[in-house]
Amino acid sequence: MTTLDIRNARGLDGAPVEVRVENGRIAAIAPSLPVAQDNATRQIDARGALLLPGLVESHTHLDKTVWGMPWYVNECGSRLIDRIDNERRWRAESGHDAGAASLALGRAFLAAGTTRLRTHVDIDTEAGLRHLDGVLATRDTLADRLDMQIVAFPQSGVLDRDGTLALLDDSLARGADVLGWLDPCAIDRDPVASLDAMFALADKHGCPVDMHLHEPGEMGVFSLELMLERIVALGMQGKVVVSHAFCLGELEAARADTLLARLADAGVALITMAPPSRIVPPLMACRRAGVPLAGGNDGIRDTWTPYGTPDMLERAMMIGLRYNLRRDDELEIALDCVTHQGARACWFDDYGLHAGARADLVLVDAMNAAQAIVTRAPRRWVVANGHVVVSEGVEV
Ligand SMILES: [Zn+2]
Repeated sequence: MTTLDIRNARGLDGAPVEVRVENGRIAAIAPSLPVAQDNATRQIDARGALLLPGLVESHTHLDKTVWGMPWYVNECGSRLIDRIDNERRWRAESGHDAGAASLALGRAFLAAGTTRLRTHVDIDTEAGLRHLDGVLATRDTLADRLDMQIVAFPQSGVLDRDGTLALLDDSLARGADVLGWLDPCAIDRDPVASLDAMFALADKHGCPVDMHLHEPGEMGVFSLELMLERIVALGMQGKVVVSHAFCLGELEAARADTLLARLADAGVALITMAPPSRIVPPLMACRRAGVPLAGGNDGIRDTWTPYGTPDMLERAMMIGLRYNLRRDDELEIALDCVTHQGARACWFDDYGLHAGARADLVLVDAMNAAQAIVTRAPRRWVVANGHVVVSEGVEV
């Protein structure tokens, strides 16, 4: 692996910064570094570009996408169950290849500077482990550049579909890192049985959990409270993520603060897509309470949604718009959601711009975080695990 020096970059504070990369790690980072005297060290002159840490996608579905494929004409009904049934029908008819789909989208994420990524992968009694096998192959192909976590996700629910629990068990034995789950009240319709099954399986594998919680209002709060009881009873503090958590945005402030304090004590992290069409968890209250709130795209161009690009700066812009972040210093919070908060929520180790961290570096044409987000600044160079994957704006 080559040694790499990045010269003449600027940090988020505007100050000069230079980076030495050795063996996939940041060996040194300082305003100025001595010039390497050997010919083996590759030199990059950043010419004043803004240095960001590798971007973090905390929640996507690589297996579902039609990215790079013919346009999918969406004529689906509006209920959650319509979308679940529609997708299952479309897959059976189209012969969708989760391996090829996930590889195309994974590469596009890398080219846009995402170096750490958590993807949910559908596990159900019709697809079996086919999607998991496809995404595992993608993870292998991109392994030396993209750090990918796989969540075994029962998109169709668990309790009503015999065999799903055994498939999830197999998935975790076969290489999935995290157990996913879905709406214990609204989909499984028996939250106690649903959550007991989820935590028992997570406990068996010693793995973290990532819950899709779309349930609104009191229903969602009830599910969260049942989860908190089980996290404490099983000692799973710091191993649970709740994605969406729309219900938290519906509570009056004092009640939200009380629940957020309990989530902080239990080490629960939240992930939001900042959707314009839904109520979202309160960003500033989460930060005050010490609950990590990270950003994710969720599905990108699939049978669920025509929207999305594999660009975490665009997601940061969506976060800025949804939470009405206007000042430049406020937009640094949006960047934090797709960098440090994502690494914290998903437990990506050795993250950040410091000596010893994994060498995941993004250089963009912008003067600060706000401009990088609002203009979705061109990625001038991307370094992933020490490998240059974008050079002078061109994917290599
Ligand atoms: Zn999702």
